[in-house]
Amino acid sequence: MGETKVSIVKTTQNPGYAEIYEAVKKALDMIGGIGDIIRTGDLVLINPSWVAPPVEREAGCITIPEVPRAIADLVKDLGARPVIAESSAVGVNTEKVIEASGYRDLREMGYEVINLKKTPYVNMPTENGKIFDTVECWELVQQADVIISVPKLKTHDQTEMTCAIKNLKGLLTDKWKRLEHQEGLFESVIDLLTALKPKLAVVDAIVCQEGIGPVFGRPVEMDLILAGKDLVAVDSTCAQLIGYDPSETLLTVNAAARGLGVINPEEIEIIGEPLDSVKRRFLRAIEDDPVQVEDFHLIHGEVTCTGCRNTVMSALIDMRNADQLEFLSGVWVLTGGALLPDGVSRENVVTVGKCMPKESRTERHVKGCPPNNAYVVKAIIGDRAAVKRMYADDTLDKTES
Ligand code: SF4
Repeated sequence: MGETKVSIVKTTQNPGYAEIYEAVKKALDMIGGIGDIIRTGDLVLINPSWVAPPVEREAGCITIPEVPRAIADLVKDLGARPVIAESSAVGVNTEKVIEASGYRDLREMGYEVINLKKTPYVNMPTENGKIFDTVECWELVQQADVIISVPKLKTHDQTEMTCAIKNLKGLLTDKWKRLEHQEGLFESVIDLLTALKPKLAVVDAIVCQEGIGPVFGRPVEMDLILAGKDLVAVDSTCAQLIGYDPSETLLTVNAAARGLGVINPEEIEIIGEPLDSVKRRFLRAIEDDPVQVEDFHLIHGEVTCTGCRNTVMSALIDMRNADQLEFLSGVWVLTGGALLPDGVSRENVVTVGKCMPKESRTERHVKGCPPNNAYVVKAIIGDRAAVKRMYADDTLDKTES
């Protein structure tokens, strides 16, 4: 057993603030408290997930306000200044998420709750970045002495799971969130991790999501709080908690490969609830109600990873929800270097992702790694109808690819 600790604390069903405060405190005490990472006078940025509506607790989409509130109260006890701050997904109005959820109430109670999209931005250097030498973050992120990731644990339609590491993407500007998709999410999120150097993660695993997360997944009640100072170890543990081998969650793998934390379960000491007593296999995004349409052809190449597999599947589900499956007829979608079958006209082919060799890309190619779901839908539909964005306010035209 190694030095790296991750704590797991069970709550009752639908816990209130007092119980969540006690669970968070217990989870932090189990990993040695936070006195070693927070000093009097520090500015402590507490980063929940406000990815998009739905904001209701039972939907399991955003971090519920009680968890960052508990952390803020504990930070205040140390004489530091807690700020709860985040920017929602591209095209999503963060203020609406704050207004519709309990975060507005926190503001009224005197907590600092900041919509980062309304604040200035700066460039921050990465450390040995693989994709980016700098990342465009909000100024407050640069000013913070300590960053705490407070994710909601969910399956994810592009990265299998979203937890402590992926959650940090909310500290990027919208422009940079898009760039990360274009240039390669699985390494650029790790570049971001090297720039931010978060010191703690506290996971809201009270109501989680399985299937097509991270917004419209199926809620799963787990009633757990997890905490750890090594975000890779936290994500490795959460991956196991929901039925993955950590080697299946690429962000965790890539972070560990760069020496940013411990992924090996044998080197992580789990304190509190035994993992085996609380784990539950979550439905993976790829297993969730696949779309089948006659005369539509999807071919994944040898190198296609879960990023493009899940992205295309998610795009098809968006089309089904928007009642647009008719546009799939006669279309071929190729990913990961798949070869165009003989006799198929290029004009009927949508190629997807950075892995498609340049010579194989058609005029309907969708760039990105993995690309934004909405652009896959746009490439399929063309000008025949408008792309309906499931949770964003901005039109697709305003959301640059
Ligand atoms: S472009 Fe390639 S590496 Fe990137 S998500 Fe798609 S298949 Fe994976």
